[in-house]
Amino acid sequence: MVDIRTVGVIGAGQMGTGIAHVCALAGYDVRLNDLSRERIDAGVAVIEKNMSRQVARGIIDDAAMKAALGHIKPAESLADIGSTDLAIEAATEDETLKKAIFKSLEPHLTDRTLLASNTSSISITRLASNTDRPERFIGLHFMNPAPLMKLVEIIRGIATDVATYETAVNFAKSLGKTTANAEDFPAFIVNRILVPMINEAIYTLYEGVGTVEAIDTAMHLGANHPMGPLELGDFIGLDTVLSIMNVLHDGLADSKYRPCPLLVKYVEAGWLGRKVGRGFYDYRGEKPVPTR
Ligand code: NAD
Repeated sequence: MVDIRTVGVIGAGQMGTGIAHVCALAGYDVRLNDLSRERIDAGVAVIEKNMSRQVARGIIDDAAMKAALGHIKPAESLADIGSTDLAIEAATEDETLKKAIFKSLEPHLTDRTLLASNTSSISITRLASNTDRPERFIGLHFMNPAPLMKLVEIIRGIATDVATYETAVNFAKSLGKTTANAEDFPAFIVNRILVPMINEAIYTLYEGVGTVEAIDTAMHLGANHPMGPLELGDFIGLDTVLSIMNVLHDGLADSKYRPCPLLVKYVEAGWLGRKVGRGFYDYRGEKPVPTR
């Protein structure tokens, strides 16, 4: 097994910040990368805000927060990521983009660096085969929000070796997470089940079976889900939901996975959900209101 001390995180969006947050609190040195210094700084500001909330709730103390923030350093270039023990890619859900990131990272990698992707749906085998180390490449699928959610789904590519798998499981456990193994098929376990449900909720809206509020109230109170499926879609990011549906549709070639045209329309409008302030709900006011 590889001794992990430093973790590189590529992508400082919702997931990258969450992953950096939990790694830093667990004592790992974290290098956080994104497309620009501004985006990295915005990511660090989000981590600070989220940790302050944990302090206010008594989940962590001030000293733990200070120590954790001290563990996070910006990585403006991929050279700073290549020297870490474990590089976790958490950039936008797009296969071409992810492959390009791993290719650009390759010249900077040390021999011992393990590679991981936080992809929600894309084949780990395909991403791994595009690198110089498919045997040391693994899927580490954190849930959103990473600091709160207990699960890390672990996905081995066809070539992933046992040492990498064991290192990944131990690493996830060291973050206080529980792991579940999924085979490398489109969207793995969680999103194979969850995202078609969200897509079906969007069809339910599209066909006029219920309003946004009726659909979310029905599933929140009727199925005892912590939030309604449209609210959940907004929370995940509708661009990510659409990418996952496309991966399921292409990868399993079954029409039951066709993305709802209304989902496509929201993404084309740039109404991607909570992260941009608007999706099935408008979040820009005091409380969320349905956008249709
Ligand atoms: P996001 O849109 O919040 O963040 C993506 C970040 O990647 C952005 O900050 C963007 O600037 C950055 N990025 C894009 N291209 C880059 C590049 N070439 N180099 C460095 N950074 C780059 O998206 P997210 O919700 O954080 O999702 C990120 C990944 O995590 C995706 O693969 C997604 O499927 C996965 N994921 C998402 C969720 C969820 O609920 N949102 C849950 C688990 C896993």
